[in-house]
Amino acid sequence: MGPSPDTVIIGAGQAGLATSYWLTQLGVEHQILERRDSLGGAFQDRWDSFYMNTPNLALDLPGMPYDGDDRDAFISRAAVVNLFRRYAELISAPVRTGVDVSRLTAAPGGGFHLETSTGSMRARNVVLATGAYQVPKVPALAAKLPAGVTHLHTHDYRNPEQLPDGSVLVVGTGQSGGQIAEELHAAGREVHLAVSIVPEAPRRYRGQDLIYWMLETGKHGPDYGVNALTTKALPSPAARFAPNPLLSGTEGGHAIHLRELGRRGMHLHGHLETIDDGDITFSDDLTERFTAVESTFAQRSGKAIDAYITAAGIDAPEQPRPPGDDWLPSEAGQLNLTDANITSVLWATGYKLDFSFVDLPLVDEWGYPKHTRGATEIPGLYVVGLPWLTHHYSAIVGGVGLDARHIAERISDL
Ligand SMILES: Cc1cc2nc3c(=O)[nH]c(=O)nc-3n(C[C@H](O)[C@H](O)[C@H](O)COP(=O)(O)OP(=O)(O)OC[C@H]3O[C@@H](n4cnc5c(N)ncnc54)[C@H](O)[C@@H]3O)c2cc1C
Repeated sequence: MGPSPDTVIIGAGQAGLATSYWLTQLGVEHQILERRDSLGGAFQDRWDSFYMNTPNLALDLPGMPYDGDDRDAFISRAAVVNLFRRYAELISAPVRTGVDVSRLTAAPGGGFHLETSTGSMRARNVVLATGAYQVPKVPALAAKLPAGVTHLHTHDYRNPEQLPDGSVLVVGTGQSGGQIAEELHAAGREVHLAVSIVPEAPRRYRGQDLIYWMLETGKHGPDYGVNALTTKALPSPAARFAPNPLLSGTEGGHAIHLRELGRRGMHLHGHLETIDDGDITFSDDLTERFTAVESTFAQRSGKAIDAYITAAGIDAPEQPRPPGDDWLPSEAGQLNLTDANITSVLWATGYKLDFSFVDLPLVDEWGYPKHTRGATEIPGLYVVGLPWLTHHYSAIVGGVGLDARHIAERISDL
């Protein structure tokens, strides 16, 4: 495999490439190992019609700021994958694709030992840029679905034609569930939705796309004493895993409102509780769910953004109050799959972290690396690209570069 590099970055998604940019700027010799055969990171796993939820203004990468003329538009899966390929070329990223790191341990005498699909190697420093959305989560309940019902995680979903004819039950209403439900409904499918408590939020807030304010408040809020979108202000370690708001980048970008989906004809249910021989039970708490979904943004991120706008003296228009909406579905709390002609179930139930290849005491009881600004408790081992690593924006394209810079500086200082 050649001589050992000073620093190895594992993963060539946006986080790995951004770290590589800064290491190159600082003159740190390094190599990126990527298990996939092609660049573009996990965005290559998204469904066919996927559009970024974050607008172009958030496509800034270190050394390659967004230079288009439509900061408020959204790009497709193919465009974002191409963007990362262009970026890797521009920064001459030293990537080796097709190299899977199967085990990372401490090397005798210092540094790290890496077992990879192409042999073993050593490095003085290792940066884990392996992604935050690694392993699709599928509830154990899935095993109770009757044979003959097709079921898959959104990770494996590509397009409506992939599913057998008939109605679809989408379990979970985060960004993926909401967006795919819209696609299935538009394709003429009868859609049932098991509603989760992912917050709704306005696409446009106080004259800007919401993501603009999330990035600005996270980056500059602390200069004005507004720390609410920084990790220090999180109410609990569990809050690091809170889902992103229910927004979509399709059709020019829009917010997804659950009651609106119901009015359009989708069947809204509570949380999926039991599956028993084709009979499905949902929790009887949709009203409470709608309350949580519709109030969280104003109480948390919206409040933080308002505080930042005021503290920084920014001239931004007031946000009109959304009209009250008390529409409620009239669905029963139970459903028989055959009676409802549900032939497929889509698990829109998110992802979990996976650092199982790291044979070192890296993670806390939540499976999240123990770290300070990306430097783990193991000297020489760093992590980048996780949600709430330092800020709310740490895992999104326009935000990851700041953490990457800090980590590269730490490495070059050693
Ligand atoms: C459904 C969904 C939609 C999203 N939409 C947006 C959006 O619109 N805007 C936005 O900014 N963010 C979005 N994100 C969040 C995030 O930006 C993306 O997940 C992004 O791909 C994360 O980049 P990354 O570099 O951290 O990780 P990844 O893109 O996952 O890259 C990590 C790379 O590491 C490689 N790797 C992992 N383990 C190993 C190993 N052991 N050995 C070798 N290689 C390894 C993987 O193959 C992968 O290519 C979305 C996430 C999801 C799940």
